[in-house]
Amino acid sequence: MSVEFLTYKKLMEEVENNKQLLGMKCKSCEAVTFPPKAVCSNCCSREYEFIQLSGKGTVKTFTVIRVPPEGFEGEYVVGLVEMHEGPNIMVNIKTDRFPDMSIIGKRGSIGYVTLPSDKYSGGRRVSFLFFLDD
Ligand SMILES: [Zn+2]
Repeated sequence: MSVEFLTYKKLMEEVENNKQLLGMKCKSCEAVTFPPKAVCSNCCSREYEFIQLSGKGTVKTFTVIRVPPEGFEGEYVVGLVEMHEGPNIMVNIKTDRFPDMSIIGKRGSIGYVTLPSDKYSGGRRVSFLFFLDD
């Protein structure tokens, strides 16, 4: 992929169409930024390359959203996940049981779900979701 600004929409198209989770690796400090931005999140360099991320990560912390915003249903879990390559991302966490402190430190993988349109999205949405390993 050529070095160009990767919009969030393009990022999600890569995820959905090509099963590629792209991050950007800085050519100056080698930090990995995800999702890709216009500059390195560590040193603000504009010299970077796109890399394929493993999608693996570890839950650092989480919260439970008990009163969902309009357009969302039920309770859901949002966590801060440290990706294997270094960046931290906020992502919904898939869990079948009510979460407790034991999910902090658990490993898993980032996948995605396709959601129907709502009054804010203007079309079908693709959203990241973190699946715990066990
Ligand atoms: Zn950098």
